Amino acid sequence: MSEVTRDGRGMPISVNCDTPVAWHSLSELEVLQQLSSSPTGLSQAEAQRRSQAFGANRLPDSARQTPLLRFLRQFHNILIYVLLAAALITAFLNHWVDMVVILAVVIANAVIGIIQEGKADKAMESIKDMLSLKANVLRDGKRVTIDGESLVPGDIVILEPGDKVPADLRLLAARGVTAQEAILTGESVPVEKDTRQVAESAALGDRRCMLFSGTLVSTGQCNGVVVATGENAEVGRISQLISSVEVMTTPLLRQMNQFAKWLTALILLVAVLLLGFGYFVNDHDFTEIFMVVVGLSVAAIPEGLPAVLTITMAIGVQAMAKRNAIVRRLPAIETLGSVSVICTDKTGTLTRNEMMVSSVITGQHVFGLSGEGYRPAGLLTVGETEVDPVEHPVLEELARAAALCNDAQLQEKNAVWYSEGDPMEGALLAFAGKMGLSVPYEQANWQRTDVIPFDARHRFMATLNHNHQHQAFVFVKGAPEQVLLMCSQQQNADGSTSELNPAYWTCQSEKVAAMGQRVLALAVHPENAGNTVLEQDSISGSLILLGLVGMIDPPRTEAIQAVSECYQAGIGVKMITGDHAQTAAAIGRQVGLQNPGKVLTGTDIDKLDDLALKNKVLHCDVFARASPEHKLRLVNALQANGMTVAMTGDGVNDAPALKRADTGIAMGKKGSEAAKEAADLVLADDNFASIVAAVREGRTVYDNIKKIITWTLPTNAGESLVIIVALLAGMSLPVTAIQILWINLVTAASLGIALAFEPTEENTMSRPPRARNEPLLNATMSWYIVMIAVLILCGVYSIYFYAMDRGYSEELARTLVVNTIVAMEIFLLFFVRNIYTTSLNWQAVQGTKVIWLVVISVTAVQFAFTYLPPLQYVFGTRPVSFWDGVLVFSIGAIVFVICELEKQLRLLLGRTSHTLTRNGSP
Ligand code: ATP
Repeated sequence: MSEVTRDGRGMPISVNCDTPVAWHSLSELEVLQQLSSSPTGLSQAEAQRRSQAFGANRLPDSARQTPLLRFLRQFHNILIYVLLAAALITAFLNHWVDMVVILAVVIANAVIGIIQEGKADKAMESIKDMLSLKANVLRDGKRVTIDGESLVPGDIVILEPGDKVPADLRLLAARGVTAQEAILTGESVPVEKDTRQVAESAALGDRRCMLFSGTLVSTGQCNGVVVATGENAEVGRISQLISSVEVMTTPLLRQMNQFAKWLTALILLVAVLLLGFGYFVNDHDFTEIFMVVVGLSVAAIPEGLPAVLTITMAIGVQAMAKRNAIVRRLPAIETLGSVSVICTDKTGTLTRNEMMVSSVITGQHVFGLSGEGYRPAGLLTVGETEVDPVEHPVLEELARAAALCNDAQLQEKNAVWYSEGDPMEGALLAFAGKMGLSVPYEQANWQRTDVIPFDARHRFMATLNHNHQHQAFVFVKGAPEQVLLMCSQQQNADGSTSELNPAYWTCQSEKVAAMGQRVLALAVHPENAGNTVLEQDSISGSLILLGLVGMIDPPRTEAIQAVSECYQAGIGVKMITGDHAQTAAAIGRQVGLQNPGKVLTGTDIDKLDDLALKNKVLHCDVFARASPEHKLRLVNALQANGMTVAMTGDGVNDAPALKRADTGIAMGKKGSEAAKEAADLVLADDNFASIVAAVREGRTVYDNIKKIITWTLPTNAGESLVIIVALLAGMSLPVTAIQILWINLVTAASLGIALAFEPTEENTMSRPPRARNEPLLNATMSWYIVMIAVLILCGVYSIYFYAMDRGYSEELARTLVVNTIVAMEIFLLFFVRNIYTTSLNWQAVQGTKVIWLVVISVTAVQFAFTYLPPLQYVFGTRPVSFWDGVLVFSIGAIVFVICELEKQLRLLLGRTSHTLTRNGSP
């Protein structure tokens, strides 16, 4: 079926047909005609019409499994097989009640599994939405940023290095463009692109005049017309891409899953041995011993653990997303918690990236310029005196260069001016307006015929512009050191030129930079009118310097606070910027870096070999005029010092450093898609404070995982010890198999999950980062597991022997045992919650809503278990007297007090040894 819509003149256009048009074999003009578009793009109204006809520019959602299938998949698990087999055998043995309880456990497990998957899916979905692609297009002749999904055939899209191509495009203009098309063609080397049409039969990889949706622009600048969107684009043909679903897993989760599997195998082996021992050696009845062994298996296997851990991770992902940190690769949640140094960009991350020109320097004067945001109005002063820009003709030249060597646009909405494009270029447009220039007039009068785009490696941008009077000029703007190298003359106040005085300009530039301003130099060069091609070599050395502008970009207040939080948390902060050393040092001082005065520049880094850099890098916090290659070397040097490095980046060339870092962080707003693809984490607001928030969440997730394990493993181990001891001693069991199933059903599903929701502990950011290779089960945790398991064992047998002593029935004794186990688990929950601090203050007792909700529900359910006749019938329980109830509670409390005393002692000793070490004593 072919989609038909009408163009602005009512002419039908037909695109996205069954027999696709070979756009690559048509000329630019033919393509535009077929799509009823023009180089200035579609009108907003027409785009809307087409959007209705063609639908959104997105790939169909991956086919989801039906709820039934998802439910059934939960049964594909070795433990469930064991339980199902047990249920079958109990049925054969006519133990119907036991069979029902076992099946209830199986179903409860499946439900937890479904909840876990749902939570994980939701976390991934919310991330996907936050990472939606934006596109720069021409609508009504103006450059605007729109959602990639709103693109329609006929739209003109503008692309820069690092951009992800949002739809299939036929190129209309291209300069130095190469694209990374590996996802379509498998070709890992970027392919060159230009506007020339190719043969209709050309293979996908040879269609050089086309850019395909989902590929990345590696270098160059271009624009092209959209020819296919959504699933009609080439990428829609790759089915595996569409159906690829990210699974919630991390190295730690994999490790724990593996651990759970081994443990299950081990427990099953022990269970079989005990079955043999009980039946053949102790002469137990087979049915009875079989049920005990089933109970043991269920008691010992931490069946809920992997699901609870996954939920914890999913909660972490959501918490980070709420704090504007979008996790792209799940292992990042773990790594973030162990980050020991954050390497951050300056512009936009530590500063607001809201620029305004506030100093203007010409050959004769140093001007001050006031204003507000991007509004093109402000006062020009020399010293305290206000001056009229008209009196200084060089300012007009400077303003023209600023307006023309520029890709941004200023727009006004509701009396607020904002910059569409780079904020620095927006500031230059506002500056041009303040100098009395009409930017739209200048841009219309001086047509751009060629451009050398800005590149962080050469740090300048140049354009070639022609006017209607057959004049042509090259306009250049860039880092002062770079532009000065390209100049031989400077412009004077009267319009004449004289020989360049580099010492004057360098001195002025450093003065402005020392105030924390970003300095740019602007230069010009008259060109032969017939020349329409710009070559870097031809302009180098021949430029006339017009002047310098200094831009303020205030630091973010949140960043200042976040930097100090990092220091408290034992995390180093390094600023790596492309900016001038003095500017960087000044901003470093303003945000509170430890060593802002010591600056290493890119050139300094180049002079150091890897070993020297490794030694220097720890003592220096500001790296200026650094390019992406330096970032890579710095990551390596920091890692060589054993540090876990988080590194931010935005440009296409930052990708290697982001990949190399332990956590690569890309900027969501100003970052290129290439950087985002290489990153583990994307910051929705580009804000340094969000990195620190993510680290805090990372630490919280890791803490909660530890807490869950410290709670789950010993309770499981304690329960199994109880059974093993009884079996080996040949006594009757203090707790029956279905009672154990009940405990696991009630507690593991609720109490364990409550720990996944634990908030950040108060001292989380005042602890030093954990070592990257620190094992999850360290000595302290292993000790806790043994200690708690033994305490549970003691608790169970003390109440059991007490009951026996008093001549209670077997049933009542067992009821007391079950309630004691649950009481101990509840108390242990409070102990584990505050594993690093005390649980004995009001705040700790208050707990969280989730904790009290589960504690109250579990207690209510235990009351039902003990006093409700139907449950008494099923589980063989008897009502407990008030004072016995108090005893049950007290045993829980005693176990808690013992654990807490041990912890306090450990904390006290830890503090003493820490103070001793700090004082230099052994
Ligand atoms: P960071 O975000 O790491 O602090 P940055 O934005 O300061 O980086 P770059 O973008 O690499 O660093 O810019 C380095 C220098 O290049 C700037 O200090 C400026 O002098 C110059 N520059 C930046 N953008 C442009 C541009 N669009 N045109 C010309 N020169 C530019």
